[in-house]
Amino acid sequence: MTLKSLADALHIRKELAVLPHSAHIGILGGGATGVELAAELANKFQVTIYQGAPTILPTASSNFRHSVENCLKKRKINIIVNAHWDTPPKGVDYLIWCTGVKQELPPTDMSITTISGEVLVDKNLRVKTAENVFSLGDCAATFAPKIAQTAEQQARVVAINIIRVVERKPLVPFSFRCRGFLLSAGQFCGVGEINGFTFFGFFAWWLKRTIYLFKIVGLLPKWKLAWEYTKKVIFTTR
Ligand SMILES: Cc1cc2nc3c(=O)[nH]c(=O)nc-3n(C[C@H](O)[C@H](O)[C@H](O)COP(=O)(O)OP(=O)(O)OC[C@H]3O[C@@H](n4cnc5c(N)ncnc54)[C@H](O)[C@@H]3O)c2cc1C
Repeated sequence: MTLKSLADALHIRKELAVLPHSAHIGILGGGATGVELAAELANKFQVTIYQGAPTILPTASSNFRHSVENCLKKRKINIIVNAHWDTPPKGVDYLIWCTGVKQELPPTDMSITTISGEVLVDKNLRVKTAENVFSLGDCAATFAPKIAQTAEQQARVVAINIIRVVERKPLVPFSFRCRGFLLSAGQFCGVGEINGFTFFGFFAWWLKRTIYLFKIVGLLPKWKLAWEYTKKVIFTTR
């Protein structure tokens, strides 16, 4: 089973609901998605993360990674690094793939994409060889991490550049400004890094949820989510 969309998440939740607490859940991929999922499931199941690279969260700073590893250790999550499989690992009752997203591009000229299918862009996010086409977010081949804050920052640059194309002005380049990272490490525990300062615990967990709450579009969905979060804090036994 893969975890990429809301439909995937609902499907996994339904299937896990009927598994016994002794079940062993395998998670392929030790990136942010795999780690967050492992930490959520560890309350109920035995969990192992199988990571292809030598460490989990390979792009994170070592401070951040160590804090996350400590949280996972406390939750008794097994981490196996340098793991590669063509067949599912033995002794695992349920396997979830969290090995990154693949772009779903329409059939396109292969000369404008990388081997992994990302669209090649110049420093202004303009598609190489296509003057009036821009690419941004997960599908654009830039050095920025494939996360929401990258897509948001690129959206601003592309909006400005479209206007500048119309006004025949020079385009502005994109450069990623990291506003920090927040990762949920299971119930009421998170790890954060802002301006090189790493912190963990309930505050990091709360901050991540609060920031997402503010990003939700529309007042009603915001209230609904706030209510869900509040219920979880009040009624979950720690
Ligand atoms: C499980 C998971 C958890 C994540 N957690 C975080 C997190 O905690 N924090 C964070 O910052 N980032 C997180 N990310 C990454 C973040 O979601 C993405 O980086 C961000 O959504 C990228 O925005 P985007 O607009 O490029 O792509 P998307 O948000 O994926 O939007 C692309 C849209 O295009 C549509 N589409 C696809 N192909 C076509 C087509 N051919 N024609 C028309 N429409 C099409 C898709 O249906 C989709 O709606 C997570 C990603 C995943 C998968």
